[in-house]
Amino acid sequence: MTQHFDIVVVGAGPAGLAAAHAAASATARSKVAIIDDNPLSGGQIWRGGAAQQHDRRARALWQALEQADNVTFLPATRVLMQVQPGALLVQNARQADTIGYQKLVLATGARELLLPFPGWTLPGVSGAGGLQALAKGGYPVEGKRVVVAGSGPLLLAVAATLRERGATVAAIVEQAGLPALARFAAGLALTPSKALQALRLGAALRGIPYYTDSYVSAACGTDSLDAVLVQHKGASLDIACDYLACGYGLLPNTELALALGCAVEAGAVSTDPWQYTSVANILCAGEGTGVGGVDLALVEGRIAGLAATGRASEAQAHFGERDAWRRFAARLARTFAPRAELRTLALPDTIVCRCEDVCHGELREHPGWRSAKLHTRCGMGPCQGRVCGSATDFLYGWRPDAVRTPIWPARAGSIITLEPHKET
Ligand SMILES: Cc1cc2nc3c(=O)[nH]c(=O)nc-3n(C[C@H](O)[C@H](O)[C@H](O)COP(=O)(O)OP(=O)(O)OC[C@H]3O[C@@H](n4cnc5c(N)ncnc54)[C@H](O)[C@@H]3O)c2cc1C
Repeated sequence: MTQHFDIVVVGAGPAGLAAAHAAASATARSKVAIIDDNPLSGGQIWRGGAAQQHDRRARALWQALEQADNVTFLPATRVLMQVQPGALLVQNARQADTIGYQKLVLATGARELLLPFPGWTLPGVSGAGGLQALAKGGYPVEGKRVVVAGSGPLLLAVAATLRERGATVAAIVEQAGLPALARFAAGLALTPSKALQALRLGAALRGIPYYTDSYVSAACGTDSLDAVLVQHKGASLDIACDYLACGYGLLPNTELALALGCAVEAGAVSTDPWQYTSVANILCAGEGTGVGGVDLALVEGRIAGLAATGRASEAQAHFGERDAWRRFAARLARTFAPRAELRTLALPDTIVCRCEDVCHGELREHPGWRSAKLHTRCGMGPCQGRVCGSATDFLYGWRPDAVRTPIWPARAGSIITLEPHKET
């Protein structure tokens, strides 16, 4: 085993940074490691480095972690699987290693729910957060016409980022209906920071058409995207664009938790009040436990870090704040649940599994995930079912019966490094 830590945190987003910060400040001076597959800290919302963010919470957390002599950050490093209880196999660009832990905090975040519709594999079509991440990473969108579509507040954040970087946002297309959106907006009074954020986004997006109760039914173009068809109040609108950024909300990343044997319910990792999972010494915080935004991720991370270092009463002091953000998360889920019509968009020749080019017509013949996988290779490509698994869950109600390790494609050399550890 190359390195051993008291606390290992997987994920350097808000939840992971908060957990590491709380754990590192324990009087026992626990040795803490933070592992993330991105080259910089920050996760999804603070992409590009926590130190670089406007959000002062990000800068404060990162500064404290950098100054702590008991914290090690392992960037661009991916956790592939558990080798044995208390030891993880990780891989970076150069090598594989095992990392030992006493306590493990999973803070692996969420990903977008991408749903198939005709034309969704055309160049120019991407996830909403996906295009935002590219733009934040320097991908040029200046002067491009973009339609931002799908569901959830993320659409507004994405549109604001794209506009800030010079794109023309032709429309924001939200599938949720106006009454549900109005109820959600009224509920923001319970969370003033979110109400303020909504006002700021509203100002930043002034003048952009916002279609509610609407969804993209097709992306059109020959070699790349030219336009999208939007279903709006019984009519079909044809909107010309260079990019479509489309995502139907977020889904917890549960693969690592499942591979470690942690219980997962309704698509999210189950935890007790101290953020402990069903497996001893493994905690989970942030969007892996359910999608609720940055504030919930931060408070769950803090509780997990305190609990992992034995400070239960300090952790308990944050339960009220967590409950408030969980109520916000429940309102979010109710408002932006994807509508049934989205199940009817895929045509027989619409690709559902993008890695293996498997179409809706082939898949719908099968009784479940296992049969489809065995007969069509659906879910067997490099994304390991991360995209088509959630699409087939939504379309056909299929649930993959097991998670395969390593949870990400791994170099053969990384797996070979396991052998000596098996023998010891
Ligand atoms: C694409 C996308 C864009 C978003 N943009 C915004 C936005 O603009 N504004 C907003 O308010 N909210 C945004 N969100 C929501 C945002 O995810 C949450 O508010 C917040 O970032 C959740 O924090 P977290 O710490 O739980 O997870 P995350 O921030 O997602 O952090 C999890 C981290 O764990 C890493 N990780 C996961 N598995 C492994 C592994 N096996 N090995 C190593 N590292 C791993 C991930 O790469 C990631 O860096 C976005 C979400 C997504 C998916």
